[in-house]
Amino acid sequence: MSVKSYSDSVSKVWPLFTNVDVDYGEDIFLYDRQGKKFIDFTSGIGVTNTGHCHPRVVNAIKEQSEKLLHGQTTILYNSMIDELANSIIKILPDELNCVFFSNSGSEAVESAIKLVRHATGKPNIICFQGGYHGRSIGALSLTTAKSVYRSGYQPLMSGVFVSPHPYFKQHSDENSEQRVKQCLDELDHILNTQTSPDETAAMIMEPILGEGGYIAPPKAFIQGVRDICDKHNILLIFDEIQTGFGRTGKYFAFEHFEIKPDILVIAKGIASGLPLSGIVANKKMMDKWITGSHGGTYAPNPLSIAAAIETIKILEEDNLVSNSEEIGEYLLNGLQKMKNEYPDIIDVRGKGLMIGCEFVEEDGLPGTFIAEKVRENCLSKGLILLTCGPYNQVIRWIPPLTTKKSDVDRSLSIFEKALKQTLG
Ligand code: PMP
Repeated sequence: MSVKSYSDSVSKVWPLFTNVDVDYGEDIFLYDRQGKKFIDFTSGIGVTNTGHCHPRVVNAIKEQSEKLLHGQTTILYNSMIDELANSIIKILPDELNCVFFSNSGSEAVESAIKLVRHATGKPNIICFQGGYHGRSIGALSLTTAKSVYRSGYQPLMSGVFVSPHPYFKQHSDENSEQRVKQCLDELDHILNTQTSPDETAAMIMEPILGEGGYIAPPKAFIQGVRDICDKHNILLIFDEIQTGFGRTGKYFAFEHFEIKPDILVIAKGIASGLPLSGIVANKKMMDKWITGSHGGTYAPNPLSIAAAIETIKILEEDNLVSNSEEIGEYLLNGLQKMKNEYPDIIDVRGKGLMIGCEFVEEDGLPGTFIAEKVRENCLSKGLILLTCGPYNQVIRWIPPLTTKKSDVDRSLSIFEKALKQTLG
């Protein structure tokens, strides 16, 4: 398949995974400039949780755009910032009661790094193998999902230590108790041999790996990391940029693991497509951040705030979080049935509408080529999907939370045709 690229006037650093010259979006659908309709099961990498251009979000943005486009946060008080912070806090445990806003996911991760350094007076951070936290130098230093993200950018931020994750390379025995124990032992060993607790400010993890392969690790692993943090007085940061705002069938993925992070990083699904991100922590910790020591010109932008306030209302009023759980289970079952028929699918897993379908070659190597072919064949039939995983061997399903059973049926039927076409 020939994939278009942008003209020479645009940087080639962006890969382009489809040739869809997009014109407009409506709920789960996208339309190109020739009027061809596509099912978008990427949600723009987990952003359009309320569907494309939800009329209520569009209306909120329209109304706001006629009033104010930029009202710099340190020059002017804007009560909408308080309103949004309160609506976020309302869906979180009591301890997470203070918000700092930024624009992109990476920026929010940078904020978390800076906050934990200020709040603890300690320099180092532990991250986990396979995690993705963004592209800016600080966030990239914590990112180990693929080396293409890091190559050529060294030296990255110092004071970062990488601990193993139960998911290793490919679908394997990540559910085994032994593997979890081994990972926790190694984490403990890192604290004993590389960065002592009195130099370690925080650990950061995606509770469910996103770019790294769509993996929910066993509860015992996440709880074990929480215990080690508690034992050594180390903060735990959860990057829920991809998993947040209903994506996994709960408002936030940490709810699946019956523990709470000290800092929650949010972005993507918060504002239905407008740039907005942030971190949420306890007020006592947030107050250790010295006034004026962090910030930026734009965040939070009034249009993004208006979109986010409306997005959170829609999630609640349209029961999109429980829809994510219910439709997610329906999609998972459909894919699991296919796994039973096609041995090239080695694993189907997920929570809510964050589902990974992993492929394997006959010789047991990661099914990179198959996953890419299936993705392309789906695209030519009008279904847009993405891959993920260290070898791009996983097809990820991340549709809007407004998806209905009939949409799933249609997509699964396209997927099966694409599988047959690929595997012969
Ligand atoms: N963390 C996670 C878990 C993400 O999924 C992403 C984006 N894919 C980021 C951080 C970075 O966000 P952004 O691209 O907005 O900088």
